[in-house]
Amino acid sequence: MAVNIEGNVVVITGASSGLGESTARHLAAKGAKVVLGARRKDRIDALVKEITAKGGSALAFKTDVTRRGDVEALVKGAKEKYGRIDVIVNNSGVMSIAPMSALKVEEWDRMIDVNIKGLLYGVAAVLPIMQKQKQGHIINIASVAGIKIFAPGGAVYSATKFAVRALTEGLRMETRAYNIRCTMISPGAVATELAEGTSEETAKEGLREFYKIAIPADSIARAIANAIEQPAEVEIDEVVIRPTAQEF
Ligand code: NDP
Repeated sequence: MAVNIEGNVVVITGASSGLGESTARHLAAKGAKVVLGARRKDRIDALVKEITAKGGSALAFKTDVTRRGDVEALVKGAKEKYGRIDVIVNNSGVMSIAPMSALKVEEWDRMIDVNIKGLLYGVAAVLPIMQKQKQGHIINIASVAGIKIFAPGGAVYSATKFAVRALTEGLRMETRAYNIRCTMISPGAVATELAEGTSEETAKEGLREFYKIAIPADSIARAIANAIEQPAEVEIDEVVIRPTAQEF
């Protein structure tokens, strides 16, 4: 029998905008109890208000995923309120596009800290709980940039998403005995705030042009719901979703 999203406790990082926000709204409408983390607390609070006003169940915790303690508190808060963790969507991410020769070392650090270490902190927070439950689902958001490299500009962002690919596959292999499903979602261009994180003006202009074909965040939310709603013994390992018009 397929897993019913209704009643599932789903932790989502980066729920204050884009894919995370859309996923929270979509899963809550299907009856999930969503627990939202992001730094912009006003935004996740507003989303909690919106979801609960419609009869849904939601909680928000101010979370900076580069702080392990924050991610632990997010997951602990979810467990204390709802008693279990069924799904985590490790979605928080940043993208700064610039040639390596521009030496934007602080932006390299930030991408590594959020996209790799932040995701690992999410895994670390839920893994002992899911192992004990002998049930759970870890959904990691990668990118088509985790399949191909675009250069000049995308080397470091791609490196972080290649890391997500390696980590998700390694985790998948290690969690068989615990009945934990692992899914990696690799989106192409999706209309969100992500591209605005680029400080290099020329790259930003190129991205604005590229993102003209971007698809709505809801298309990724639906794929996440579909990965959850499989029969318990079925694991969707990878999903790649591009705009039909996208070549990269
Ligand atoms: P957005 O910029 O709209 O959302 C990014 C989210 O990440 C925000 O909610 C932001 O919350 C959160 N975030 C950033 N830094 C931190 C931090 N230190 N701690 C906690 N949360 C943080 O972009 P998207 O929705 O597009 O991005 C979501 C994921 O999708 C990312 O992993 C991205 O790499 C991936 N992706 C996106 C694609 C696209 O075309 N849009 C394509 C492929 C992958 P806050 O600032 O409030 O903390």
